[in-house]
Amino acid sequence: MRIVVCGAGIGGLSLAHALSRHAEIVVVERDAGAADTGGYRISINDEACRALGTLLPRALISEIRSVSDVGSRFEQFTIADSHLRPIIVAPEPSGQDRILAHRQVLRSLLVRDITAMVTFGSTVRAVSQDRSGAAVTLTDGTVIEGDLVVAADGADSAVVASLLGRSPTRDLGLTGIAGWAPLGDAGLPGYLRRGPALAFGPDGTGVFLSLYQPPGAPAADRMLVDLPGEPALIWGAITPSSRLAHTRNTTGEALVRQAADLLDRWSPWLHERVSHADSPRTAAFRFRAVDPAGPIADWTPSTVTALGDAIHAMPPTGGRGASTAICDAADLARALDDHRDGAPLAQVLAGYQHELVSRARSAVRESLAPLRIINALRYRPAQLLARPLLNAAGTLGALRYRGQR
Ligand SMILES: Cc1cc2nc3c(=O)[nH]c(=O)nc-3n(C[C@H](O)[C@H](O)[C@H](O)COP(=O)(O)OP(=O)(O)OC[C@H]3O[C@@H](n4cnc5c(N)ncnc54)[C@H](O)[C@@H]3O)c2cc1C
Repeated sequence: MRIVVCGAGIGGLSLAHALSRHAEIVVVERDAGAADTGGYRISINDEACRALGTLLPRALISEIRSVSDVGSRFEQFTIADSHLRPIIVAPEPSGQDRILAHRQVLRSLLVRDITAMVTFGSTVRAVSQDRSGAAVTLTDGTVIEGDLVVAADGADSAVVASLLGRSPTRDLGLTGIAGWAPLGDAGLPGYLRRGPALAFGPDGTGVFLSLYQPPGAPAADRMLVDLPGEPALIWGAITPSSRLAHTRNTTGEALVRQAADLLDRWSPWLHERVSHADSPRTAAFRFRAVDPAGPIADWTPSTVTALGDAIHAMPPTGGRGASTAICDAADLARALDDHRDGAPLAQVLAGYQHELVSRARSAVRESLAPLRIINALRYRPAQLLARPLLNAAGTLGALRYRGQR
């Protein structure tokens, strides 16, 4: 069987590993190379760690773990105010497996052993299918045929749009600027040592915060060369896109400046950190999402299917997108095992697309929830009301969680 995977992202590469045991795999990818991707960190949750176990060779998983951030703890999740006073501290379930991987390192490792299957610098424009197979057309006119095509080309998927005649996702009107910053000598809120936090300002700006602890692997490791050797602050500011002057085709310095401007009335410690953020590591992302109440992957598959953000894009606020894409890949690989055992392809694909919907809906809903607060605070009357309420909640929270400040 020849399978064309469109997109060498986290889901597409994980799938390619599993399928390459039994099929001929061709992966086409728009980026010029594996390291040509956002420099942020990806948290892979318990369910996705188990799914990776079915997709990747054991030695590769050990290697991914060895270069991942092992020191950080995910015991709790904190909601804070703009002075970084805790308002709510919610414990995370204990005993959960988790991999905290640097995205560029993870992608480079996922590509390394299957490089011969991946064609970088190839952008898919369209897909077509009939009962005997499917074909993708690249922007340079090249046509690649296969028995099956998998759209793994992320949010705003060209493949799914070509199949459905419309994009399954919409722009949410919000933009995130994310980066890394040195921790400095003092002022780190204590709760960040126990897990990530999301802070809200009264103007509707939100900031995701998390602590980076360098991996324990030897510093000589080639994959670690570009990773900070010291603990650092991982931050992501979220605000309506209309408030940001330039986020496309702009420099890291300009993004850092815009993020620092958004936070000039916030905790001086945070403002200082973001102002001194590592600009080459700073990037902006427009948020897209599928409607969690609308149709998801509801076409009748013949020889084209999809996984991950390509069918159920969600904003990064839930930290679930990559994990959901990995779980899809594991389910799809299992469905194709059934096909090898004799079940018709269209039947196993329909089963796979049906099964993934409930996981996708719950991940999208969870990821959209924090954005409701940001959206509600776009308007002046809500901001005027929010200021004293957030202040009171911050004062009470600071007392209640005294030990965590
Ligand atoms: C700042 C930030 C932090 C995040 N943190 C987390 C986290 O902690 N945990 C988590 O689970 N998720 C996180 N996410 C979300 C996660 O990165 C995505 O949901 C995940 O990568 C989706 O995987 P995917 O394989 O579906 O798509 P992607 O990994 O986006 O891969 C899609 C690939 O397709 C390629 N492509 C696109 N169009 C074409 C085309 N036309 N032709 C060929 N190739 C194409 C792209 O270049 C890309 O390589 C975060 C996202 C951001 C922006």
